[in-house]
Amino acid sequence: MKKELIFLGPPACGKGTQTNMLSKYLGFPHIDTGSLLRAEISKATEDGIVAKSFIDKGQLVPPELVGKIIKNRLAQEDCNNGYVLDGYPRSMEQAELLERINAEIDSEKAIFKAIYFDIDTEILIDRIVHRQSCPKCGEIYNKKFKPSKVENICDKCHVELSTRADDNEEIAHARFDTYYKETSPLIEFYQNKNMLHKIDANGSIDEVWERLLKVVNN
Ligand code: AMP
Repeated sequence: MKKELIFLGPPACGKGTQTNMLSKYLGFPHIDTGSLLRAEISKATEDGIVAKSFIDKGQLVPPELVGKIIKNRLAQEDCNNGYVLDGYPRSMEQAELLERINAEIDSEKAIFKAIYFDIDTEILIDRIVHRQSCPKCGEIYNKKFKPSKVENICDKCHVELSTRADDNEEIAHARFDTYYKETSPLIEFYQNKNMLHKIDANGSIDEVWERLLKVVNN
């Protein structure tokens, strides 16, 4: 049966790393709205220019813009068996739109799980300001907690790592405010629908991975 997996949790909770691994493990596409928006920004499209003005303030990009991108992406053939959706939905309005999109696309019943990464938030700002990623393979590094073998170079692709423009302390605080105000109510929303699966996201990448697999394979 088709598996629709969405992920909730504060910025830098480890979703990006785990969902990247999970998409490879399941053979489902990893759909990450933040990366899709950054791709629009780097191409300087009309949507990218609008998105940048919100991302630079740590705010949510307008729902119509993200809705359009996500609707097109989820309708693609590689999502037929399932998807790993990271960074969407991020508000009640988006959660309701996702239900409508899934109902339109799905020809038969699908398994839907909202996986919530529950984590102590004190270390997260520190994680954000030291984060780097590979522009080619998407591997995420951290100068302090998970450095690349050669400074600033991806271990796998050997290309220079990049730092996100919004990974600085000021914007990070705004992103947390946005998360608590707009996104965290979704935890209760999915709990009430018996679709929420909470995992302890504290600990090593391997420890969290084990917990994630249990939820995904059950
Ligand atoms: P992320 O890479 O998931 O941390 O997202 C980076 C930024 O992209 C966020 O701070 C938002 O400004 C924007 N963004 C990503 N996903 C969404 C979404 N589902 N709705 C609105 N804005 C989003």
